[in-house]
Amino acid sequence: MTDRKTEIAANLAKVEERIAAGCVAAARKREEVTLIVVTKTYPASDVRILSGLGVRHVAENRDQDAAPKAAACADLPLTWHFVGQLQTNKVRSVVGYADVVQSVDRARLVVALSKEAVRAGRELGCLIQVALDAGASGRGERGGVAPDGIEELADLVAGAPGLRLDGLMTVAPLTGEYAGRERAAFGRLMDLSTDLRRAHPAATMVSAGMSADLEQAVAAGATHVRVGSAVLGVRPRLG
Ligand SMILES: *Cc1c(COP(=O)(O)O)cnc(C)c1O
Repeated sequence: MTDRKTEIAANLAKVEERIAAGCVAAARKREEVTLIVVTKTYPASDVRILSGLGVRHVAENRDQDAAPKAAACADLPLTWHFVGQLQTNKVRSVVGYADVVQSVDRARLVVALSKEAVRAGRELGCLIQVALDAGASGRGERGGVAPDGIEELADLVAGAPGLRLDGLMTVAPLTGEYAGRERAAFGRLMDLSTDLRRAHPAATMVSAGMSADLEQAVAAGATHVRVGSAVLGVRPRLG
């Protein structure tokens, strides 16, 4: 093994242990939680290593970096998640490689995603990104829609050609009533997921938890955790 492969394998094993321990503590089956490795800022060669180590889900947050990386890894059996704030002028490109967009947070974006998914002849999975720190604007600092905007957006996605409503995503808030209270934030997301599934039973995905708080997400009931730095290392720049 190369040094990089050895390093990533060791990190991956530690993260796997943390997820497994979290599942034991929460009396959940390990298969209930899917690891998504966030590969943003890291090269396609790392994605290839991850795939060789058995990772099947990767995530990116910037189209400029993600598009060439996904193209370089098109031969790998990977599911690509887009988790960043998405401008409508990037939608055509993102729909070209993403299997799931986790950051759906406004009607205009739904319309654009639907149009491009139909054009590309593909079905795109969508998660509504929930901002638990949304201010009066109804939007979060880092994207997302306030909880009272979920229903309308979910109905829009569910009725949009080319789109499939898969569930909800959140990032633990740094401000507001949930700041520093990850477990409570993820618990709130689970309650919102329960509400959502009354109208949309197939929308079962709950994407929550990152390197620092994946245990809290597993404890709350998350189905997907998005882990970057704990697997690939601390990112050299903002991402
Ligand atoms: C970067 C990122 C992650 C991963 O964060 P780490 O702290 O590196 O694990 C998860 N979710 C989103 C939306 C991200 O942008």
